[in-house]
Amino acid sequence: MSSSPNPRSPRPHPPVTVIGAGLGGLSAAIHLRLAGHPVRIFERNPTPGGRANRLELNGVSFDTGPTLLNYPWVFEDLFRRAGRNLADYVTLLPVEPTVTYCWPDGRRLTLSRDRERLRQELEGFQDGAGAALDRFFADAQEKFRIAFEKLIPRNEDHFLRYFGALSLAEFRRTALWRSMYRELGRFFPSRYICEALGSYAMYLGGSPFQLPGTFSILPYGELAHGLWLPRGGIYALVEAIVRLAREIGVEIETACAVERILTDGDRVRAVRLAGKDTLPAELVVCNVDWPSAVTELLGEPPPRLAMSPAVVTYYWLVRERPAGLGHHTIFLPGDYRGAFRHLLRGRGLPPDPAFYVAAPPPPNNTTPASRQLLFVLVPTPTLSRLDQVDWTQALATLKEHILRRMFQSGFTLSPAAILSERIWTPHDWQQRFRLFDGSAFGAAHTLTQIGPFRPRNYSRRVRGLYFVGGSTNPGAGLPMVVISGRLVAERIASHVR
Ligand SMILES: Cc1cc2nc3c(=O)[nH]c(=O)nc-3n(C[C@H](O)[C@H](O)[C@H](O)COP(=O)(O)OP(=O)(O)OC[C@H]3O[C@@H](n4cnc5c(N)ncnc54)[C@H](O)[C@@H]3O)c2cc1C
Repeated sequence: MSSSPNPRSPRPHPPVTVIGAGLGGLSAAIHLRLAGHPVRIFERNPTPGGRANRLELNGVSFDTGPTLLNYPWVFEDLFRRAGRNLADYVTLLPVEPTVTYCWPDGRRLTLSRDRERLRQELEGFQDGAGAALDRFFADAQEKFRIAFEKLIPRNEDHFLRYFGALSLAEFRRTALWRSMYRELGRFFPSRYICEALGSYAMYLGGSPFQLPGTFSILPYGELAHGLWLPRGGIYALVEAIVRLAREIGVEIETACAVERILTDGDRVRAVRLAGKDTLPAELVVCNVDWPSAVTELLGEPPPRLAMSPAVVTYYWLVRERPAGLGHHTIFLPGDYRGAFRHLLRGRGLPPDPAFYVAAPPPPNNTTPASRQLLFVLVPTPTLSRLDQVDWTQALATLKEHILRRMFQSGFTLSPAAILSERIWTPHDWQQRFRLFDGSAFGAAHTLTQIGPFRPRNYSRRVRGLYFVGGSTNPGAGLPMVVISGRLVAERIASHVR
């Protein structure tokens, strides 16, 4: 028998080096491993998960970032592709009611997946809100279908082909030319309802006055499909995905930072590990936040990109949860428009910020019943506009503001009831996860930075170099970065084939 290679036999799948074990990197690694590539991940932190990480405070574990999960089918699909069942790895529990909004004038709005309950709640803010809700649902359901069937799941770089997938009626439905706030206003004249439903924009780019109307699918997605929390906290989901990755043969090396992506002409050649070796690499998938990746690992100038806000996060171990405080409570400012303007263009910490308090169940059974966890997230301008901040003073003022706003809304928490505290400023977020300009959610989802206009998931300059995660397509949030992992694997398959 001849030992010469058969010219017709398919080329073996080349090994892939993944930089970063955020959920985007893990998802890409799983999809690529399932496609037949040997995959090795290098993660600079001691634990995988990226922003969805875990920290210990007096022996109690806190989720660092995400506190809520939507679109559970995205995670189920990841496991199904590997021939596994998500439910065998982690249990997702519905959060109900979903979110409560509080205003400084004492008004409160609680959202629910229960349509009748929601209808009654909205009627308290707007006569005939029930009928408006039905019209909103019918419209947003169609937007949601278009987004999830025709826009989000595709690698398409040309805007004509991207939008060409839509019929004229579908394109009209996207409401790309209208702001999210105005789009909500078509259904809800009540400023309270628009402010509540519009506040989701905070996580995608900053402002409902700037994000396209398509993003009315965010509140719709939550109201129609629910919010979820894994039993054991968000990190239990990360552990499940890490376990799946390892079971199928993905190698994960933690506490191992990549210092540089090395190229040879227009091809990727190797990655240089911090203080260690240079490893040859034919295919590299970079999960480092895209603008940080191009500046820090490729040495390119900073790209011109509008970034989403930074955040200050407080982790509090408290004696008891303030009475009546649900899982997720959002405190909106008196001057809603002004607060968002500050977030996008102001300098320094906002004087009257929107913020939210999450009260997750303690993740481990060892937590004494008299200890409860509270997590507070305050969006802020990004780091380049926080250069004058005296952090000691600013954090104390911010904490006073948070406790005062909670008190005004009927949730009493005295400073003495906070038994232990940890605070992460935008500097901490930037340094731990290499977030560009400290932006918590990556590139903003403005009209010129979505779909074919968002940073691509492959390098146009360096062959063999790919990107995955929140600043590429389809965007930020846990389900989106998991989809981003599938998209990059499909992109590689189309290039390598
Ligand atoms: C405070 C906060 C709250 C949030 N809340 C929610 C929520 O409730 N629900 C939701 O769906 N989403 C939420 N998000 C968004 C969500 O967390 C992110 O969109 C998602 O986790 C980003 O995943 P990623 O894979 O793109 O990037 P990351 O999680 O940032 O992962 C990138 C990884 O690369 C590693 N890395 C960086 N540089 C190097 C290097 N040189 N070498 C090796 N490794 C490197 C990093 O350490 C990190 O582990 C929240 C985000 C934040 C910050």
